[in-house]
Amino acid sequence: MGRDRHPNAVLLIGLGRFGGTLAETLQRMGHDVVAVDANRVIVQEWSGTLTHVVEADATSEAALRQLGAEGFDRAVVAIGTGIEASLLAAGTLLDLGVPEVWAKAITRQHGRILERLGVSHVVYPERDAGERVAHLLSGRLLDFIEFDKGFAIAKLRAPRSVCGQTMAEALPRRRFGVTVVGVKRPDGEFGAVGSDTVVNQDDLIIVTGPTPEVERFAAATA
Ligand code: ADP
Repeated sequence: MGRDRHPNAVLLIGLGRFGGTLAETLQRMGHDVVAVDANRVIVQEWSGTLTHVVEADATSEAALRQLGAEGFDRAVVAIGTGIEASLLAAGTLLDLGVPEVWAKAITRQHGRILERLGVSHVVYPERDAGERVAHLLSGRLLDFIEFDKGFAIAKLRAPRSVCGQTMAEALPRRRFGVTVVGVKRPDGEFGAVGSDTVVNQDDLIIVTGPTPEVERFAAATA
């Protein structure tokens, strides 16, 4: 692959549960994915599903060069359990000049070191899934994503406190610090919410705001 550029392709290191799912999803979405794993058995398992799967040790600069890693604009290090391998692979990709390196971290410490190396996006799949499930288990939230530090968007059944009145009357932002951005009537589609929208108790709503306010809104009005 030499020094060819692959501007729309993603170089993915590690085909564990996270990396494998990521590679498969990206490919299904139409992205070119070059997946690398050091384990021959795993490479064989994935070779039927993924178009480009290569057996290589991603901690080796020579191996990454041979793959043409410096031609990729985006790479993901999906090695979690082997922290040393994760750091070496991320560091080597950055040394080779890959502009956007994403990496999975297992612990906060692991994530901090990845950030210090210059990794642009550190993701914590286990921690994020744990937090999300806690929110879903704890009450009325049907879906929950913390999309930025301290900011969340959630789907829930419309709480009584905002039902039967227009948004201009219910004033969810002033009373609860959250904004109602979407509503789904029974058997309907999600639609936008305006100041004259009335939500009813059998509607689903989408709210966004600071995470504690979203939690309080869902809990206090259950
Ligand atoms: P998950 O928890 O998502 O299953 P793991 O950390 O257990 O993730 O899996 C990591 C994957 O990365 C494994 O398939 C492993 O073979 C691969 N891997 C580990 N070290 C390297 C390396 N140096 N180069 C390439 N792939 C590696």
